[in-house]
Amino acid sequence: MEKQEIRVFNQKELENIVQAFGEPRFKAKQIYEWIWQKGILDFELMTNISKKLREGLKEAYTFNVFTSSHIQESSDGTIKTGWKLQDKSMIESVIIPLPDENRYTLCVSSQVGCSLNCTFCATGKLKLKRNLTDFEIVEQFIQGNKKSNEAYGHNLTNIVYMGMGEPLLNYENVIQSVDKLTNPNGFGYSTRRVTISTSGIIKGIEKLIEDKIKVNLALSLHAPDDEKRTHIMPINKSNKIADLIDVLTRYYDQSKSKISFEYILFKDFNDTTDDARNLVKLTRRFPVKVNIIEYNYVEGVPYTKATEDRINSFAKQLVDNGVMTTVRRSRGKDIDAACGQLANKFR
Ligand code: SF4
Repeated sequence: MEKQEIRVFNQKELENIVQAFGEPRFKAKQIYEWIWQKGILDFELMTNISKKLREGLKEAYTFNVFTSSHIQESSDGTIKTGWKLQDKSMIESVIIPLPDENRYTLCVSSQVGCSLNCTFCATGKLKLKRNLTDFEIVEQFIQGNKKSNEAYGHNLTNIVYMGMGEPLLNYENVIQSVDKLTNPNGFGYSTRRVTISTSGIIKGIEKLIEDKIKVNLALSLHAPDDEKRTHIMPINKSNKIADLIDVLTRYYDQSKSKISFEYILFKDFNDTTDDARNLVKLTRRFPVKVNIIEYNYVEGVPYTKATEDRINSFAKQLVDNGVMTTVRRSRGKDIDAACGQLANKFR
């Protein structure tokens, strides 16, 4: 019989497993801590577990550790790693170091490919193959943290769900992975260090409200009106901007978490003074930061980067209207690790 990956189980499920071996429930907590707090992926090293239980677990369960298919380092220090999963699917994660701010951010993938087909995105061209399991998401973190220590001598400080896939269309696994990263019996990260980036799935945000989840949310807005947004993001047909603003207002009221709008500036498409004016109107219902992002060329996509003058005047118009705004220069451009570029090499 093929051994099963142990990390698909949460603490409650581990309790059932250890009880099936005739052991007390609290052993599950110890195993959970070995795996999710200490990052130990070998039953033999779990020294406070009886030999009988260790051997029983070893016979039935395993740890399918990722193997990297490629690692690329950008001249700005960004590191992109391609991972080969058990079923030979490929995903990517990216570490973005900002040593001056003491910030080492890992961008994780949540799906293999993506079903949403945003016209400017490399991942969208791959089509969805499958959802990642929660442990496959956390494994990117475990491996990323190792890499971050090797490369920069520093633990990861922030995790963003902004790689391949739409996290809120893989809700259960994403939330389970957030739990493992933030659980005090797990990695113990503050939820303030975790950001889920979504293209705007209203049902998913409603579920976050219902489940009382408190993570930062980044909405990939990219256009300030429905006509333009639907043109580049087909998901907008069924998730209109006004409804998104309503649900985000409710999310903010309940969680008081940080919300940001991601806005890639495309030349002569969404970079006019009218666009900036319309964008300002969307920022009045809750505190929000707008991240203006430089567009990175993706092969076969009919958009180009807004000019430097336009980027600056667009940002200035927002700031002059009291909107908290940052202009994010893309990192890792030379290795296709920048926003919207993951998966370029898999096509
Ligand atoms: S931008 Fe995000 S949601 Fe859109 S296709 Fe790419 S990965 Fe999917």
